[in-house]
Amino acid sequence: MSSKVTGGAQIPAAYASFHVLPNASDDPSDERMPKNLAQACLLFHQTNNDKCLDRLHEDMGRLLSILAKGPDGKTKISIGKGCICWSCGFVGLPSNAQEVETTSGFIAATCKLCSLNDDTNFIEGRQPDGSAIPFIEADLALA
Ligand SMILES: [Zn+2]
Repeated sequence: MSSKVTGGAQIPAAYASFHVLPNASDDPSDERMPKNLAQACLLFHQTNNDKCLDRLHEDMGRLLSILAKGPDGKTKISIGKGCICWSCGFVGLPSNAQEVETTSGFIAATCKLCSLNDDTNFIEGRQPDGSAIPFIEADLALA
């Protein structure tokens, strides 16, 4: 029997640097709305949503490791505006990233994992000094 650690009790400090941007339809004064990914973890933890919690940790682990190492010059990467999907816990670039970057005005992020776009928010990574932290993803080689 293996005991699986979902990490709900241990949230990397870096998560708090990734802010959840409210959608136009969200009430910014809603206290239940997580303001950053650390709070998102707590929400998933409190609602016993281990699946979302695991997904968030996996995706953030990948992002933080790419940010820590820097691009190796060999792996093809994508940089853009990240999002979180509240239905599946996905954190990363949306599947409509190109549309999001090129269209003026608001377009909801489409989750790359479950393809929903009605339960997503954009994420903005910000260092304590205010500088932006980009979302970088290694492009998966799709055959
Ligand atoms: Zn999703």
